[in-house]
Amino acid sequence: MHKRLGLVRRVLAALLLPVVLHGAADAQATGPLRTRNVVLIVSDGLRWQEIFTGADATLLNEKNGGIWDKEEDLRREFWREDVGERRKALFPFLWTTVAAHGQIFGNQARGSVARVTNGLAFSYPGYNEMLTGHPDARIDSNEFGPNPNISVFEWLNTLPDLHGRVSVYATWVIFKDIFNVTRSRLPLQVGWDPPYRGTLTPRQALLNELYTSTTRLDDEDVYDSFLQIPLLDSFAGAQPRVLFVGYGETDNWAHAGRYDLVLHSAHMFDRFVEQLWTTLQRLPAYHDCTTFIITTDHGRGSGPVEWKEHGVEQKGSQNIWIAVLGPDTPPRGEREHTAEVHQAQIAATVAALLGKDYSKAVPAAAAPIAEVLGESPSK
Ligand SMILES: [Zn+2]
Repeated sequence: MHKRLGLVRRVLAALLLPVVLHGAADAQATGPLRTRNVVLIVSDGLRWQEIFTGADATLLNEKNGGIWDKEEDLRREFWREDVGERRKALFPFLWTTVAAHGQIFGNQARGSVARVTNGLAFSYPGYNEMLTGHPDARIDSNEFGPNPNISVFEWLNTLPDLHGRVSVYATWVIFKDIFNVTRSRLPLQVGWDPPYRGTLTPRQALLNELYTSTTRLDDEDVYDSFLQIPLLDSFAGAQPRVLFVGYGETDNWAHAGRYDLVLHSAHMFDRFVEQLWTTLQRLPAYHDCTTFIITTDHGRGSGPVEWKEHGVEQKGSQNIWIAVLGPDTPPRGEREHTAEVHQAQIAATVAALLGKDYSKAVPAAAAPIAEVLGESPSK
């Protein structure tokens, strides 16, 4: 996010009609799927380089990485000579559980490319591509305004068996536009909106107070930890079958030029995903029937300066990573020498895991990633 092109697009967006949806919802599945719930989780602007190779040695310093931590402390926490150990130190859940029992695409050093196809590599175009299944050239600013396109979440919420079972928890307030909340009526907990209403427990009152009293790094983006609490609390009430979770700190700290905080927030993101997985596995409605898709909205540049930013000027920003863990995903682990996978495929993959054919309803949408649905790799 944090790419303010300043173009006025709201009026235009309001004039654009939503695409017409048609076609039967149920996919012609090759066999019954075990997935009943899908959670799509995004850590904004988290590079594939950190995912696959861990902390970057050239940035563990004040000069290039802008760190305030002591270099020796940061190295003790995140530096290992062995690349496998190094990435596991940063992302223990991803590398011991997700990759071991699921699949992860995007290690370009091993011939697996995952990328965005929107040509811009910043947030709104990326989330639009991921959530609607196709890039949209009109969306060229984070200030675009309400999305004329219908997301797979909005579409799933129109289906009788999923209606009212779709929800969104995200740190970035712009998701109100990306999911076009005025039209979609999806329940969203986003940005600095205090999460609790009505009669509050002391704990809820405290968190609401922190939402109003904490100094904000970014007025549009609440801290990840502030989102995690209402997210985990929410399952005591609503039990969504389709859930979007968006974390923002990995992007913000990079823009701020603080590589130490990129690493700390990336590590915490891994812990938050683990917490969510563990919480859901304890609930009967989710146990053994929930699939996580974990990804990012864009990559970033590389080298001593360009790691901070992303977009057309920062080479490599189109490169992302996509991980999937769930009962229908064969445990092929870290993928090597695969066909390219695209961000646009995520929408139809979310639907296909629930037995729904999004590509049929939205012909512009890219096909699901077949290999995470139990199908054999295509050569
Ligand atoms: Zn950004």
